[in-house]
Amino acid sequence: MLPPFRSSPVGHAARGFFVLLCLSTTALPAVSAEAVAAPTAPAVEQSLSRLLAAPQIQQLMKAVEADHARTLVDLKALTEIPAPPFKEKARAEAFLARARALGLDAHMDAEGNVVGVRKGTGSGPRLLVSAHLDTVFPEGTDVTVRVRDGRWYGPGISDNARGLAVLLSWIKVLADARLQTVGDIMFVANVGEEELGDLRGMKAVFREHRDIDGMVGLEPDPSGAITTAGVGSHRHEVTVKGPGGHSYVTFGLPSATQGLGRAITRISDVRTPSDPKTTFTVGTMSGGTAVNAIAAEARMAIDIRSEDNAALAVAEREILAAIDAGVADENRRWNATSLGYTTRLIGDRPAGRTPAGSPVVQAALRANTAFGRAVPRLMANSSDANVPMSLGIPAVILSNGGESGGWHSPGEWWKPDGAWKDAQIGLTTILALVGVEGLGEPLLDKRPR
Ligand SMILES: [Zn+2]
Repeated sequence: MLPPFRSSPVGHAARGFFVLLCLSTTALPAVSAEAVAAPTAPAVEQSLSRLLAAPQIQQLMKAVEADHARTLVDLKALTEIPAPPFKEKARAEAFLARARALGLDAHMDAEGNVVGVRKGTGSGPRLLVSAHLDTVFPEGTDVTVRVRDGRWYGPGISDNARGLAVLLSWIKVLADARLQTVGDIMFVANVGEEELGDLRGMKAVFREHRDIDGMVGLEPDPSGAITTAGVGSHRHEVTVKGPGGHSYVTFGLPSATQGLGRAITRISDVRTPSDPKTTFTVGTMSGGTAVNAIAAEARMAIDIRSEDNAALAVAEREILAAIDAGVADENRRWNATSLGYTTRLIGDRPAGRTPAGSPVVQAALRANTAFGRAVPRLMANSSDANVPMSLGIPAVILSNGGESGGWHSPGEWWKPDGAWKDAQIGLTTILALVGVEGLGEPLLDKRPR
């Protein structure tokens, strides 16, 4: 049933304590400084009221709910096509075939993203609407979907096959209703969100399409939250190399493992600000070949994060200096110069933020309360939205609907109860942003071309 339009937020037992981890090592989403949502602007209020009161849109929302059962078929099919990082092609092809069958003029781009533009009247803004194809699960993972006690189990089912199924549902109901939007909706099922994919899919989209004015992405975010800040990260792989030798016979040579240890000790002493929250960790380390050998090689991987690009750069500089000094310490200790190191950037996600007053955030907030939800919290996370945010293009991540848990683990599950509600909220947000002919102008501004 279509919920009545409400003019004031009502309470909602938000299951908002779930934490979405979009990277296996993603920081807990910090509640942003703008956690208290800005009041809704009058234009947003007016636009949403008008849209949701229109019989055409009420029909559309009913269609979203009615399509729920069909989305489960898509969900199962997509979840059961493996999509490890850099190996998303089979799932992309399946999505492309479904999107075309549902009436979207879509294609696969050079990076492997599926892109299809649903055209507006020609004068409006262009909104990117996306969900990622990839999962964290390596090849060979059993991705069979199993239903037990009302829960659907399957690796990647919630993160983010569910998002893909919602995109397909939106494509279908919009086509069935022949709804004419003012702005364009660019549907994208993208590659490279997880892990070392390093947002390559989204980076390619924004490199190739300079005419995108805003973004609404889907993730298994809790229903009571909207992601409006993108935590940036840089990751380095560090390899320390030395001569190596026998522990007794060649004693006196510098050691790669000991040099690495000295570097880690110095890194551990680096101080980072709590505001903007800036963090680091030596996530992994390894090295040496035998207990009775001076190690010739040792490695570590470091993750550095911040909500602010400048703070990220400062922390990174200090950590790289700590490595340099640690390796120099080891050489000095043995009067040597033979220990060296290399660093390689293996992850680069820019930070960014969409202001709470931005129409993209405002529309999402109001759409939530219009459907009876409490005013959502604004969250920081690391996701595809980092890319537009870092470019100053307004972007939010919304909930793909349904309760879920165990993300990035083989026990990942999703519960379909009432999941269509978030699909309604998301679609309402999108329509308010791009505008509907005869029902309202777009809330999303066109950026200067
Ligand atoms: Zn995700």
